Amino acid sequence: MSDRKQIVASQSKVANSFVMVQQQIDAICEKIKISETCHLRLRECERELTVHFPVKMDNGQVRVFTGYRIQHNDSRGPAKGGIRYHPNVTLDDTRALAVLMTLKSAVVNIPYGGAKGAVACNPKALSQNELEKLTRRYTSEISLLIGPEKDIPAPDIGTNPQVMAWIMDTYSMNKGYSVLGVVTGKPIELGGSRGRYEATGRGCTICARLAGKHLGISLNGAKVAVQGFGNVGLTAAKLLANEGSRIIGVSDSKGGICNPNGLNLEKVVRHKAETGSVIDFKDAENITNAELIGLQCDILIPAAIEHQIHEGNATSVKAKIIVEGANGPTTTEAAKILRENRIFIVPDILANAGGVVVSYFEWVQGIQSFFWSEEEVNHQLQTVMDNAFHEVLEISQREKVDMSEAAYMLAIKRIADTMEIRGIFP
Ligand code: NAD
Repeated sequence: MSDRKQIVASQSKVANSFVMVQQQIDAICEKIKISETCHLRLRECERELTVHFPVKMDNGQVRVFTGYRIQHNDSRGPAKGGIRYHPNVTLDDTRALAVLMTLKSAVVNIPYGGAKGAVACNPKALSQNELEKLTRRYTSEISLLIGPEKDIPAPDIGTNPQVMAWIMDTYSMNKGYSVLGVVTGKPIELGGSRGRYEATGRGCTICARLAGKHLGISLNGAKVAVQGFGNVGLTAAKLLANEGSRIIGVSDSKGGICNPNGLNLEKVVRHKAETGSVIDFKDAENITNAELIGLQCDILIPAAIEHQIHEGNATSVKAKIIVEGANGPTTTEAAKILRENRIFIVPDILANAGGVVVSYFEWVQGIQSFFWSEEEVNHQLQTVMDNAFHEVLEISQREKVDMSEAAYMLAIKRIADTMEIRGIFP
């Protein structure tokens, strides 16, 4: 048995995120005849750093936190990927997210590899002072890996522009000069890009429009349900509402709300700011996150966390289009069911790539110290997303595969080609 066959056969049957993404890589590498060397390299992460570090809390006690920085593959350029602060995040989750970053950068054809970082913590339970100390110490711990030419972090769940500013400042203090290009998603005052905050949700909206056009569904009047009311979900919901879509359901970690006549998003935002959740909004009915997934709608945007559409609820999905705002929101088993039910899925590595595209624009602007207008950023984003969507759609039609498989085929071929051309050192 070849190395490849042995490794793939011994694959754990436990469905964690990393195993799932490895299985997808296995299937595509076999299908498009990627060399055994490239395949075996792609199914592992190049560099993995785990750190356990102390933080002195406000009450004087010291807590030890665990964090990770994983670089999956940097064949096409510096590794790039967000930093997640979440209590349940694991090493395997971080690995899977790093792989998705490599694939995502390749699908939209920007010169980056993939990485991801995480700290197992609940940022909502930390004071601002504790959050800053944790961020600065974590940055110091991973600073042997990160850098503007090596590995460039960005925000993800639980982190935001302020956290990026602390990372930039900590890294710059150790270097002795300001290094704008070490992170993206920074505040505008600190070299952030206009349009970056909204970029992922904007990318989802562009994909929803293109998918709708392909299927003959206009955004104007389309019924939309969005899971996750954060950066990605809320931005996508607002932009779709601007296009005339009716946002009939939204949710956050505490639950969801539904109004078939459409929600007034401004009022929901105010309600969430006052109460901490979208639930109990007076002009809507409370629903569970599971009910939100099964709402009667045209477009469903899962924009919260992984594995929200699974074997147990995939048959309840009534949407015609799913735009995967979150990373890995659909399990492999659920994807099969959705495919059988002829639901058109714009996969995560395409649908939520708007964030990394504008992160790339931010990095370019920082390196050149020349900043673009928001119109310019949005125009360039539109062009990149449009090209990527049509390249994936073309493969999907030519090879008679779904959009997810087509996106993986496009990405893996691009990465493998670069690996082949570069060869193996030494
Ligand atoms: P965020 O922290 O701003 O928002 C996350 C939202 O999801 C919150 O409203 C939270 O309450 C909700 N949520 C959390 N757990 C939930 C659960 N179990 N059920 C329902 N809702 C839940 O995060 P974000 O930046 O919007 O990221 C959302 C997803 O998009 C993540 O999967 C992230 O990896 C992905 N993503 C984000 C970006 C970006 O630029 N922010 C880029 C690419 C992908």
